[in-house]
Amino acid sequence: MKAAKHGSVAVITKRKGPDTNTAWAQGGIACVTSDEDSFELHVRDTLEAGAGLCDENVVRTIVMEAPARIQDLVGLGVHFDEREVSGHREFDLGREGGHSKRRVLHVQDVTGKEIENALLKELGRQPHVDLLENHMAVDLITAAKLGFAAEDRCLGIYVLDENTSGVETIRSDRIAWAELASRARGFLWENAFDRQHCIGMEEYDVSEAVRGEGGILRNNRGKDFMKRYDPRGSLAPRDIVARAIDAEIKRSGAQCVFLDITDKPVEFLRERFPNIYETCLRFGIDMTKQPIPVVPAAHYQCGGIKTDVNGATDLPGLYAIGEVGCTGLHGANRLASNSLLEGLVVAAMSIFAASARDVLA
Ligand SMILES: Cc1cc2nc3c(=O)[nH]c(=O)nc-3n(C[C@H](O)[C@H](O)[C@H](O)COP(=O)(O)OP(=O)(O)OC[C@H]3O[C@@H](n4cnc5c(N)ncnc54)[C@H](O)[C@@H]3O)c2cc1C
Repeated sequence: MKAAKHGSVAVITKRKGPDTNTAWAQGGIACVTSDEDSFELHVRDTLEAGAGLCDENVVRTIVMEAPARIQDLVGLGVHFDEREVSGHREFDLGREGGHSKRRVLHVQDVTGKEIENALLKELGRQPHVDLLENHMAVDLITAAKLGFAAEDRCLGIYVLDENTSGVETIRSDRIAWAELASRARGFLWENAFDRQHCIGMEEYDVSEAVRGEGGILRNNRGKDFMKRYDPRGSLAPRDIVARAIDAEIKRSGAQCVFLDITDKPVEFLRERFPNIYETCLRFGIDMTKQPIPVVPAAHYQCGGIKTDVNGATDLPGLYAIGEVGCTGLHGANRLASNSLLEGLVVAAMSIFAASARDVLA
């Protein structure tokens, strides 16, 4: 939508518009909004989770841009949960592993879906944006591939229209890659850590926010074991938690450990986690009465196409934004709820940067 202020835009997706990882994001989006919090603390928590491999300048920029981008979402109609404090309304901030403060904005436990719905709704109103669904991007068109002697750059993409089974050529000076293994040049890919783990049931990711709201990890003997692995206990960052669960499972021979939040009031759990509550029930587990069996689960890919903080790759004209990109924000391990934030901030910055470059040119 920001790009459409500068020209016409095609949003290409291999499936339907709402069918994305974004729609699965439950926990929320990290942003400093409270007086008890600060940019410094968010930066510090991100750097600590990244285990020395983050790019501090990128971390700082993204953390400090966050409030303005959250306001963009609020302006588009995303109603983050609020609560009443001393007679005024403020964001109801969630806490998640690795965060030293409550700073996760959320819409119950369906944050990604709500953000995406608001964006798709607004997209539908934009005269210069076409949403091409069931269009699979199959390759980039680059000057080098076409055999031009001039400096290499991205010139467009080939897409397979799955409605007609025909391949179409889309010509564009600016391509923003939002998910796809690199087909341009091997060196674009920066491999940091292929994936990290959080916790899930066999077929379902259980949001980190459950630990944030007081969920305790217990082993098969009912013992709260996390303090043996990290002083933060069940609120340690997810890579530490995942390794601890793995060790505990191997040591006991059990098939899983348990996430126990049964000491919270039923009404609170049903209101804060309606989606997780219903999903657990479908698996035969009432999380208000019994602990949820969990194991470590592949969840996110750290690393990706190397970019600067504006999402620009080293191939002119090609941007990589979101989980596919590697700005340096996450390092060895992404801090919870920093992914939606990265996509949101870097997308906006890429537009500022690309339009500034055009003006200069
Ligand atoms: C269960 C779960 C819970 C999560 N919870 C959180 C959370 O609480 N907070 C947080 O910050 N992060 C969370 N994450 C991570 C976060 O959701 C993702 O990292 C983020 O949404 C990625 O956004 P994206 O735009 O990069 O990719 P996506 O939202 O997946 O969008 C990629 C798009 O590209 C399309 N596409 C892919 N390949 C092609 C192709 N070849 N041609 C055409 N289109 C293509 C896809 O169809 C899709 O539309 C969670 C992830 C999961 C799976």
